[in-house]
Amino acid sequence: MNQKFPNQILINNSGLGCWLTLLLIGLLLGSVGLGWVVNGFLILLGLLFILPAIGLLVARWWLKRRIVTDSCPVCQYQMTGFSGSQSQCPSCGEILEVEGGKFKRYTPPGTIDVDAIDVSVKELE
Ligand SMILES: [Zn+2]
Repeated sequence: MNQKFPNQILINNSGLGCWLTLLLIGLLLGSVGLGWVVNGFLILLGLLFILPAIGLLVARWWLKRRIVTDSCPVCQYQMTGFSGSQSQCPSCGEILEVEGGKFKRYTPPGTIDVDAIDVSVKELE
């Protein structure tokens, strides 16, 4: 158990030493008149940290817009699908496509999807 502890301290020390070295180089360059190098490096370092965070946020926003959670129009099974793609209902096997944030039954071109309407029969005299 105790054998891992000195290792961590060593890693922390080397990290601190690395940062101190960078700071020393920065101060040295700044005193020589190369402050813009330091600034550029710091901006680059900042971007290196900020860009992945922004990328992650954009990816999450994009996924939120693309992912659609709705129920299957055939069997009412709650499922998730990607907007603009086809998916198959895991419950009834119906092929569905996402349209306007809702699942719709996929109909090949040329097929007319009709809803059956109950018509009460009226006898003619
Ligand atoms: Zn279904």
